[in-house]
Amino acid sequence: MQAITLLGSTGSIGTQTLDLVAQYPERFRVVGLTSYSNVTLLAEQVRRFRPQIVAIGREELLPELRSLLTGMRPLPELVAGTEGLCQVAAHPAAQRVVTGIVGCAGLLPTLAAIRAGKDIALANKETLVAGGPVVLPLVREYGVKLIPVDSEHSAIFQCLQGVPPGSLRRIWLTASGGAFRDWPVEKLNQATLADALKHPNWVMGRKITIDSATLMNKGLEVIEAHWLFGLDYDRIEVLIHPQSIVHSLIELADTSVLAQLGWPDMHLPILYGLSWPERLATPWDPLDLVKLGSLTFKAPDHRKYPCLQLAYAAGQAGGTLPAVLNAANEAAVALFLQERIRFLDIPRLLEQVCERHQVIPAPSLEDILEVDAWARQQVELLAQQAPAQVLA
Ligand code: NDP
Ligand code: MG
Repeated sequence: MQAITLLGSTGSIGTQTLDLVAQYPERFRVVGLTSYSNVTLLAEQVRRFRPQIVAIGREELLPELRSLLTGMRPLPELVAGTEGLCQVAAHPAAQRVVTGIVGCAGLLPTLAAIRAGKDIALANKETLVAGGPVVLPLVREYGVKLIPVDSEHSAIFQCLQGVPPGSLRRIWLTASGGAFRDWPVEKLNQATLADALKHPNWVMGRKITIDSATLMNKGLEVIEAHWLFGLDYDRIEVLIHPQSIVHSLIELADTSVLAQLGWPDMHLPILYGLSWPERLATPWDPLDLVKLGSLTFKAPDHRKYPCLQLAYAAGQAGGTLPAVLNAANEAAVALFLQERIRFLDIPRLLEQVCERHQVIPAPSLEDILEVDAWARQQVELLAQQAPAQVLA
């Protein structure tokens, strides 16, 4: 029986993780749950999965959570705020922590989990993108495992099982191309929020769906892969694969290429993140290649997806630049989700904020948190002060 804690239980990753806990009650038990503001769903999950500790990110919602759980026996420990999230992440009863929080808000709870010796099933890529320089040394110091849940990284991790050290030449991250994969680049200035939210293959949270439309999601994944697999950026490639069946590939020293395939459904990489190194039997439909008929691949169009190159450049520069890019992206996507900026303003804002940043080469946690806040402010200022320029 694996005892798990689930950060971000009310989101897309969180609810799919709980589907699996419900499907394998003899294998997984929930110790802790967290959400940010969705107190109603959190309370339902608490009643159903009976964790020992629960955190709500927004402290002012703690009384409402308490009242929604009136009469529950035994009542779990209820905590709130960032400190509460960290308490849940570090709870002694759990062995593995699934990080399903969206954004750099996941960084402090993830660090708390690592310091408490938990293995991390990592979905929250922004944490590694921004915090890589502090997360990786701690992972080594505390001897914990980082098990990727992001489907591409899970695919690479799966392909790497049994590959001898030193024989990995490069990796290929596949990308669906997002909502605009079939749009000509000239039409992107007309892209609306509703258009950008229509992902062709995956149903996910709103932020990552927009990141898929800009291809920033793949850019973040390139940086995530750098930290997870210890590869230089010239050994991480991106391939557009519209069907999202080949989840990623690795190339070995002898030119052999290995890939992991499956339906575009996060349940599988989440399950592997929970069960690794074991494989659990599932009742799911097997992959049907005959029905699929053909799988296609092409190179990404950098004119259409400038965010991808911004991410490679930030990754290569290193230090605090990935944290700045990530925070600026979170802020710009939030503005786009509020329809305060247009789709093409996202890469423009990111470029401007990255240009203004003085990179700190070997940042501390404080440096990362500081530049994260700075980058968010810069996006807000640029969007407010020079809308004509930004929105040109
Ligand atoms: P969602 O937006 O669906 O869920 C996010 C979760 O995080 C919710 O539980 C939310 O709580 C919580 N949350 C939001 N803001 C904060 C905050 N400031 N502090 C603490 N908790 C917060 O996101 P997804 O599930 O789509 O994505 C989660 C992570 O997994 C992301 O990093 C994403 O890139 C990654 N990922 C997601 C995939 C997917 O299929 N969805 C695939 C691969 C990676 P509340 O509901 O209360 O707001
Ligand atoms: Mg992914």
